Amino acid sequence: SVPATADGAITALLRADLRGEKPYGAPQLDVPVRLNTNESSYPVPPAVVAEITAAVAAVAPDLNRYPDREFTELRTALAAYLSSSGTAIDPAQVWAGNGSNEVLQHVVLAFGGPGRTALGFTPAYSMHPIISGSVGSTWVDGLRGQGGTPFDLTVESAVAQVRAHDPHVVFLCSPNNPTGTALGLDVVEAVYAAAERAVVVVDEAYEEFARPGRPSALTLLAGRPRLVVTRTMSKAFAFAGGRLGYLAADPALVDALRLVRLPYHLSAPTQAIALAALRHAPEMLATVEVIKEQRDRIVVGLAELGLDPVASDANFVLFGGLDDAPQTWRELLDRGVLVRDVGIPHYLRVTAGTPAETGAFLAAMAQVARPEQ
Ligand code: PMP
Repeated sequence: SVPATADGAITALLRADLRGEKPYGAPQLDVPVRLNTNESSYPVPPAVVAEITAAVAAVAPDLNRYPDREFTELRTALAAYLSSSGTAIDPAQVWAGNGSNEVLQHVVLAFGGPGRTALGFTPAYSMHPIISGSVGSTWVDGLRGQGGTPFDLTVESAVAQVRAHDPHVVFLCSPNNPTGTALGLDVVEAVYAAAERAVVVVDEAYEEFARPGRPSALTLLAGRPRLVVTRTMSKAFAFAGGRLGYLAADPALVDALRLVRLPYHLSAPTQAIALAALRHAPEMLATVEVIKEQRDRIVVGLAELGLDPVASDANFVLFGGLDDAPQTWRELLDRGVLVRDVGIPHYLRVTAGTPAETGAFLAAMAQVARPEQ
């Protein structure tokens, strides 16, 4: 929240639409089992650490100069990584920033803003409304669960809401945080067609964890110049501290983002370490399958406790059926396990960690779980 001063002078100076707003604030607590921000629990492998260190050493003497403003080499490497999924992506279709949060901000800076509307379907990633609002866009909280199952987003419901609000930016999140489930491409296609004047963003931060048969929206980019697919190295790539997020879109849309980025926004060390990590993509992604196994183990384990886990295509599980979610959150913390209270009554979200962390979480849950009556 806004820092309090004796006379509220700063609050009086603040933009009216920011007064009383809360900053993003997932707790960063030093406890044994940290499963609250969907990071990877696995450290960077030693061989990659060595290459990252060498890469930083190589750019250090030139830090007197600004870095490559167009991050050409990095863009080429990201395009090659995306293309390895089977959909050819050209470097001119790629943009990057310090985390996908920054590329999302670039999109709303260019296509949202004062007098413009951004629509998302709640619950989804909590930064979509914060980033949209921070640049002055009007946020519209769209609804999920209109198809009869909790948190679903049907074609009919999504299209009706897009038509009702005629937004300038639409956020879809697939696999969705915090619910975990991927959207069908039919929803993306229908939203794109209905949102005639909008840039449609599909936030695919967790795409590498999706279950088979849930293709990426990258496959829809051809012929859709208003479609944007965002990705990150923070999750499956186990590189959250490296701060590198990116997107793929039509080259003309990417070009427009140059108007709103700050010059040289990707530092030389950032570009160098991301390139080093991308050169080792298979090693960096090696734990994805283990994490998916732990995710599925969590779903089974929580169901056995009489709780209500949501099927997940991500590296986390949202689970419901709790009598008092904030109380369960505290009792887990007392046992050294930090999970996320995403503010949905009776639900908590847990990241799939190592097998040992998952075991610790499930053991603690067996002690504290009090299913809803
Ligand atoms: N999108 C989603 C859906 C997320 O969950 C997150 C991180 N929690 C992000 C984007 C942003 O991640 P980063 O800025 O680290 O790329």
